[in-house]
Amino acid sequence: MKVLVAVKRVIDYNVKIRVKSDNSGVETTNVKMSMNPFDEIAVEEAIRLKEAGGVDETVAVSIGPARCEETIRTALAMGVDRGIRIETDAGIEPLAVAKMLKEVVGKEAPDLVLMGKQAIDDDCNQTGQMLAALLGWAQGCFVSKLDIEGDRVKVTREVDGGLETDVLKMPAVVTVDLRLNVPRYATLPNIMKAKKKTIETMWPEDLGVDIASRLTIRSVTEPPRRDAGSIVGGVSELVDKLRNEAKVI
Ligand code: AMP
Repeated sequence: MKVLVAVKRVIDYNVKIRVKSDNSGVETTNVKMSMNPFDEIAVEEAIRLKEAGGVDETVAVSIGPARCEETIRTALAMGVDRGIRIETDAGIEPLAVAKMLKEVVGKEAPDLVLMGKQAIDDDCNQTGQMLAALLGWAQGCFVSKLDIEGDRVKVTREVDGGLETDVLKMPAVVTVDLRLNVPRYATLPNIMKAKKKTIETMWPEDLGVDIASRLTIRSVTEPPRRDAGSIVGGVSELVDKLRNEAKVI
């Protein structure tokens, strides 16, 4: 059984995002980039499945600029077997990503594709669903538990008011949620070993995918500033302020 994991290079979640002065997007120059946190969870799950004995090979794929290689190396250092990098400097949208992943799936024939439920930069939460639709495969989204049972994968999803359990016939696309696992840190020996693992490079043209943008971003702005709060002396002062300053009661 083969597992393909999609890993996206995004602005590190600890970085305070700055909007560009021309409001065309967010600043990425000289900003720390890392693997999308949900994708780290997907990578961890792929490695655990292999360690449990049910999976023969794990492959990480990332689409974006040349530096996505670092993101793939992180996955390799965690324990993934090999990588595929699809290089483009264009801003790519979920549909284009899903179409390219579909072509990679066609070449690699994995039984399971693991992805993050969403990328923390665009917050789209679309790529996994689009990929499953393009492939005509079963999909399980926002998965917090996953078990392989023969040619099926049993997934638990956190839904409003409880947990939903679905059984998907493989091949399938699964997008993972925060509670699925806690990703491991790559150890130094494994970082060294990862340098020797193979990363194949492809370009969107090789895959015959039109990555032209279908969205126009009109403007990106900072959220409105919130005024500083104040500490009131007691209930009567609070009621007075609500009535006479905020005029909400
Ligand atoms: P999104 O639909 O943009 O929120 O992304 C959902 C998931 O799709 C991510 O967590 C990744 O697993 C995958 N994905 C999105 N964009 C890329 C990309 N450029 N390269 C690799 N995987 C991606």
